[in-house]
Amino acid sequence: MTPRIRFALLIPLLAFLGLAGCASTNLQPVTSSDYQPVAEEHRIHRVCEQEQQQLADSEMVYHNQKLSDYLNRVALRVLPDEAQSRIAIEILVINNPYSNAFAYPNAKVYVHTGILARMENEAQLATLLGHEMAHVTHRHLLRERRHLRNKAAGLASFKATLGSVPLVGELSSALGELGTMASVSGYSRDLETEADNIGFEWMVAAGYDPYESPKLFTHLMAEMEAEAQAEPFFFGSHPKLADRQSNYQSLLAAGAYPRGGTVKREIYAKAVAPAIYETARLDLKAGRYAKAEKGLKRYMQIYPRSGRAHYLLGEVYRQRNDGNDIHNALKYLSRATKLNRKHAEVYRSIGIVYMNQQDKQAARRAFRSYLKWAPQAMDREFILDYIRQLEQE
Ligand SMILES: [Zn+2]
Repeated sequence: MTPRIRFALLIPLLAFLGLAGCASTNLQPVTSSDYQPVAEEHRIHRVCEQEQQQLADSEMVYHNQKLSDYLNRVALRVLPDEAQSRIAIEILVINNPYSNAFAYPNAKVYVHTGILARMENEAQLATLLGHEMAHVTHRHLLRERRHLRNKAAGLASFKATLGSVPLVGELSSALGELGTMASVSGYSRDLETEADNIGFEWMVAAGYDPYESPKLFTHLMAEMEAEAQAEPFFFGSHPKLADRQSNYQSLLAAGAYPRGGTVKREIYAKAVAPAIYETARLDLKAGRYAKAEKGLKRYMQIYPRSGRAHYLLGEVYRQRNDGNDIHNALKYLSRATKLNRKHAEVYRSIGIVYMNQQDKQAARRAFRSYLKWAPQAMDREFILDYIRQLEQE
């Protein structure tokens, strides 16, 4: 997010937060017997719906019925019955390679394909969803809004928070005021810790392996270090990932939990496979080759005969072109043609590799196959030009 966009987002947000009045931040959770929604909440929910429509219109919401069904099943397994009778939880997916998830107060939780692709199993997913759903049941957005409004310095610190947010990508412009608050700035440390504690309690009660909870953060941190990447905006910016990890570790230490809870590694990987593929595709597009390679290899463990995954992995090697990469590129691209001999783009990539290697005959053959399977290709004239040059030289 550029400073200019950030500032532009901030102006309506300040107006929306309002400056008048001192309201109670001591609000009962939705599961409490004396829970009463307040008028302000109804207004917030209407804004949520508008923002969610805006997100839907932005085409960033990723649609895959099987994936949605799976995520919603896990969410309902984690969320206690008494909360399910009060809120209609729904998990949606955003097609974005950055690791993030956020919850709107009207019980819609958005999970990025990027974080689905990086988590290892259902127990980690249960940790993530538990945390996000606890923000909803414990009315954190309203509490945070009131807290900021009651505190004169609050708005300044919120502005400072937004100022330190790393790049969110094109998503930032599609998120509205509330989405920005939930997704980018996060909540105060106390509310984040409360969401950790409640979400953890729920996932344990649902039978998941609590020892998987801190691993969610261990892996995210290791990945960031490996890529020398800035802190992601996952779960908002406070507390930092390391704090979150130690919070889950102390929850674990306090409970003396038995081993042997539900983990579901294979079921998870298969269910989120479309997100793994999609994230790898976006990683390749952005030149994050190591991540794309890792993602595609994981995808191919699930679908070892996927032609499109072989093609993309071949493309990772062809585009990176480092060390043994070209050898590997040809290996995966040629396997891709065997898995789906009509996949035109694969032949184009093979043609380019051979052309660079000065193997004119092989390059010509590959380009001809490309045009055979994609006779209407946009780059047809370029390719015909290549073939003519290869014939002349
Ligand atoms: Zn959070």
